[in-house]
Amino acid sequence: MQNYSITEYIDGVRQGDRTMLAKAITLIESNSPEHIDKAQAVLKELLPHTGNSIRVGITGMPGAGKSTFIEALGCYLTERGHKVAVLAVDPSSSISHGSILGDKTRMEKLSQDPNAFIRPSPSGGVLGGVARKTRESMLLFEAAGYDVLLIETIGVGQNEITVRSMVDFILLLMIAGAGDELQGIKKGIIEIADAIVFNKADGDNQPRTLAAREEYERALHYLYHATEGWTTHAHTCSSLTGEGIAAIWQVIGKFRELTTKSQVWDIRRKHQQRDWLHALVEEHLSRNFFTDPKIKAILPQIEQEVMDGKTTAITAARRLLGE
Ligand code: GDP
Repeated sequence: MQNYSITEYIDGVRQGDRTMLAKAITLIESNSPEHIDKAQAVLKELLPHTGNSIRVGITGMPGAGKSTFIEALGCYLTERGHKVAVLAVDPSSSISHGSILGDKTRMEKLSQDPNAFIRPSPSGGVLGGVARKTRESMLLFEAAGYDVLLIETIGVGQNEITVRSMVDFILLLMIAGAGDELQGIKKGIIEIADAIVFNKADGDNQPRTLAAREEYERALHYLYHATEGWTTHAHTCSSLTGEGIAAIWQVIGKFRELTTKSQVWDIRRKHQQRDWLHALVEEHLSRNFFTDPKIKAILPQIEQEVMDGKTTAITAARRLLGE
């Protein structure tokens, strides 16, 4: 990695220089202690210039049309003067070599748009690492003047919960007729969504999509809503034709307006900051614990005792923590 000064990173990002922005992201994603220190110094200076975007999480099973939808929404927004950053949270990508956003051709038009920036999921291994890097990259984009952040994740359990802790609004993208089980859609995931969107409402598929929307509208009456004072509705769109994209953006705008007025927006962001602090402390403590030479020396034996039923997990944990 080339050696830029902290000031060079800060100035580059503030000027919205794409090359420097990319380099700053690389710095943030680095695991080397020296880079981590430098990245933190850069972020600290940029912090006053962050927070001025809307952070939208987009989730759904593979094939629901997330990247097509992001391309359609992203282009719609850049045409209207917005600067759009697309980020992915996909801890599986380090195993499968980029299952989402790995291949930029999936968003061909948006990836060439000077007012859009697509950043693939960092390889962080564990979800915590990927999430930390994504959170910090989000701050960089905001400092660089990006006012819409789209955070893509694949619809599997823990990913959504993590993304919920990073964004203002969650959009769950679905397709009609695939069956909820098949889509991995559990009630819990519906309940963290601020909008449910049935994609592919075009051609022969349109009647089915409209029916699915109605069915969900009825079901949503009985469910817990993700955001206080906001009622989650089901919508339809076609990412291919662009139909319905503008209306969805309006829904997101309305959400921002309402929750800003009620302060729910602000409170959520404050809580997210606090939760992030806790997560970082936990991550640090856990890492220090398991890399401690004393613990490393006795851990295998204690693990074996627990597995063999010779001691309870609680007793073993106490013994380890006592060390
Ligand atoms: P992802 O895995 O959720 O990112 O899904 P993709 O965006 O890669 O889309 C999966 C497939 O669905 C692709 O073949 C797309 O062309 C198709 N697709 C996406 N959106 C639409 C849509 O609105 N209408 C139709 N007919 N096909 C779509």
